[in-house]
Amino acid sequence: MTDTHSSHQDLRASVVEAARTLFANGVMSHTGHANLSARVDASTMLLTTGGQVRDLAPSGLALVGTDGTALEGQLDPVNAEIVHMHGEVYRAKPDVGGIIHTHSPALLAFALANRPLRCTYEAMVRFGQDSEVPVVPWAPRGSERSVGGILDAIAEHPRTEAVLLGNHGVLVFTDTVMRAALLLSALEEAAEAEMAAEGLGGARELPAGVLADVRAAMAAAK
Ligand SMILES: [Zn+2]
Repeated sequence: MTDTHSSHQDLRASVVEAARTLFANGVMSHTGHANLSARVDASTMLLTTGGQVRDLAPSGLALVGTDGTALEGQLDPVNAEIVHMHGEVYRAKPDVGGIIHTHSPALLAFALANRPLRCTYEAMVRFGQDSEVPVVPWAPRGSERSVGGILDAIAEHPRTEAVLLGNHGVLVFTDTVMRAALLLSALEEAAEAEMAAEGLGGARELPAGVLADVRAAMAAAK
């Protein structure tokens, strides 16, 4: 591993592109608050240094151990609190390569209501979420109780690639940080539409076996 300030340029570029995608897709909250990370190797990640990622630059990422050890670059104090939220998910899920946390407005509504987001929207499945997004009960951000709640939800819902953080926001974890941005965008659409559908009698469940059908259709389209 190189320890220069310009290390991991390709990975830095992918995190910047993922942040740009969140804004381009219109899924960010007014404050522009988010934190994004990408796995470097088994014990290291790149993590955004500040709590606001509008106009994120490659230099806006610090190299941090998944155990919270700072290796290169400096995290703002406010972000030092969320290192473990990212690091522990990488430690629990070796296949995860990218993690994004936002306060996306429609997902935030579900988080405030402490209501799981059902999987009723085909695009959720298409971008990898074929089950409901569970809610982790509120606890102070970055606290042991908060991170423990996230790990419990992941253990209880091994297929989920996202959790709602009760009274706080959402956390998405997938193979790459770019796919996390795309899944988060699909989840935000799903949350918006789920609320809109309430006025029309409520969203209907997808038929059983939809995942197999969507996968077959996607494989055929390649
Ligand atoms: Zn937050």
